[in-house]
Amino acid sequence: MVEFSRKFDVLVVGGGNAALCAAIGARRLGASVLVLEAAPKFYRGGNTRHTRNMRCAHDAATDILTGPYTEEEFFEDLLRVTGGDTDEELARLMIAESKDMLNWIVEQGVRWQPSLGGTLSLGRTNSFFLGGGRAMLNALYRTAEQLGVDIRYDAEVIDLEIDNGIFLSATLKQGNGHVSAKASTIKASTLVAAAGGFEANIEWLKQYWGEAADNFLIRGTPYNRGSLLKMLLNKGVQEVGDPTQCHAVAIDARAPKFDGGIITRHDSVVFGIVVNKHAARFYDEGEDIWPKRYAIWGRLVAAQPDQIAYIIFDSTVVTSFMPTLFPPIGGQSIAELAAKLELDPAALEKTVADFNAAVRPGTFDHTILDDCRTEGITPPKTHWARRIETPPYLAYPVRPGITFTYLGTRVNKETRMLMKDGKPSANMFAAGEIMAGNVLGKGYAAGMGMTIGSVFGRIAGREAAKNAKN
Ligand SMILES: Cc1cc2nc3c(=O)[nH]c(=O)nc-3n(C[C@H](O)[C@H](O)[C@H](O)COP(=O)(O)OP(=O)(O)OC[C@H]3O[C@@H](n4cnc5c(N)ncnc54)[C@H](O)[C@@H]3O)c2cc1C
Repeated sequence: MVEFSRKFDVLVVGGGNAALCAAIGARRLGASVLVLEAAPKFYRGGNTRHTRNMRCAHDAATDILTGPYTEEEFFEDLLRVTGGDTDEELARLMIAESKDMLNWIVEQGVRWQPSLGGTLSLGRTNSFFLGGGRAMLNALYRTAEQLGVDIRYDAEVIDLEIDNGIFLSATLKQGNGHVSAKASTIKASTLVAAAGGFEANIEWLKQYWGEAADNFLIRGTPYNRGSLLKMLLNKGVQEVGDPTQCHAVAIDARAPKFDGGIITRHDSVVFGIVVNKHAARFYDEGEDIWPKRYAIWGRLVAAQPDQIAYIIFDSTVVTSFMPTLFPPIGGQSIAELAAKLELDPAALEKTVADFNAAVRPGTFDHTILDDCRTEGITPPKTHWARRIETPPYLAYPVRPGITFTYLGTRVNKETRMLMKDGKPSANMFAAGEIMAGNVLGKGYAAGMGMTIGSVFGRIAGREAAKNAKN
């Protein structure tokens, strides 16, 4: 039973990777630590539950990584995906510390496994968690409990008392709809905010996306509503990042509104064409290799009428990509397929016929920028273009699947939050999605969410513990 009347050294708000790395880091330095997780125990761990891998720099191949991935190469990848929109000092710090993460995370009980095959080709750069994100989290929770970290579930922080950049206390709502909720005040010497982004808060998303946000599906936890982020920003913490920027991919339109996870994502775009509800193509499906392009399709679909699109392909490619939870919708003719998708059959027949007529001969290879392309249509398909002509014809309906948002709290190298006047807070730290915008101005490279959580989580725990002891 957690004793709320005592004052803790470190209060960690959130229950995912960033929170646990901070809690373990602080506890190992002797601090008393309380973790407050809004979700019930079964759903603990936010978006971290859905993860599979983490990107870390390393100088040589290991048991699980097929070759070196230097700090410089990691930084170049980050510059490319963000278009330079990153805080270089924090980015270089994160990359340098990521090297040690490969060992540190194992010391906390997490195990790695060799990379899975598939379209993302991450075997050299990303380390995969044995058993996935849920197993990784279970190991972190077990370690935290063994170290004596106090953990409370169903414990949403609903208010913060902050005076002149100094955290004083948090108000906690315990219980959910089934149990009568009661509020308690928690005092602590330092605060680590690790409560994720605001991707599950549709009303907040609507401020930037308008009514279209009603059609977004949220790939992860419904508990990341940005409530802590909003409290911090309202109480003088400086914001970082563009509120419209987020990681968004195309996911199956039949997926649940929240928490569909990884098995709803479609990686079949390069093997076919993508049309909107008017059966018209709208973007080059073969612009670049899939690992560099999968994260733009959420935004592309979000820009289409009614935020819906359809990946259309034929029976020759069905085994070329990782299948999802949902089977494709099929028809023996394009017209039959269109009818099942509730698209105009004549319009879809024309789109496919125009595309087929524009395909030039080439040698197909989806691992390189091959010479299979179209000529004379807009938009072009610049690689991997092959005629769609072998029934049954197949389709996946897709919607924007929001992974996480980038608006966050600005931090310095100690992960100390900066206040609006530019001064560092005396005792407030942030880690994970809630401060990802410091490093990710836009864009994404697979596996970085966990790097941001682990590296800055560990730093936040260390700095908070040091701060509390002084
Ligand atoms: C389907 C999917 C797959 C992904 N795959 C990968 C991958 O393979 N590799 C990768 O690097 N990234 C991946 N990501 C991104 C990754 O999940 C996140 O970047 C990472 O988990 C963020 O960790 P975090 O600790 O900051 O947030 P989270 O793990 O989301 O944790 C936030 C926590 O805060 C809690 N919380 C929120 N508000 C409050 C409040 N007011 N009071 C108390 N608690 C609160 C939530 O309940 C939650 O436990 C994936 C995301 C999704 C959705």
